[in-house]
Amino acid sequence: MNLQQSSTDVWPIVGIWLLVGGIVVAYIWSLWWLYCDARTRNNTGCMMVALIGLFAWPLGLIIWLLGRPERPRVAKNKPSGTIDCPRCGVTVSGNVARCPNCGEAR
Ligand SMILES: [Zn+2]
Repeated sequence: MNLQQSSTDVWPIVGIWLLVGGIVVAYIWSLWWLYCDARTRNNTGCMMVALIGLFAWPLGLIIWLLGRPERPRVAKNKPSGTIDCPRCGVTVSGNVARCPNCGEAR
């Protein structure tokens, strides 16, 4: 058995496994990202989104990117846990059910 020959023969196999490994890593990472992304958008079906991604990847991922709901408006320079009322714009605590200024339900 020629050692030089066998070590050169192994590289295409290594390349294929690196490719397969890369796809698997991208798949798992994108599913995790999909789940987290759905959760930050207050999507109650975030587990459902992850399942769609699981079975329809990568098509489900593309569909999600095209049709995902808007991220809830969280003010950047304000204390965490506060939001701007969508109706009157007043900054209110994120855990109140109604805006104390105008009564708009969140
Ligand atoms: Zn308001």
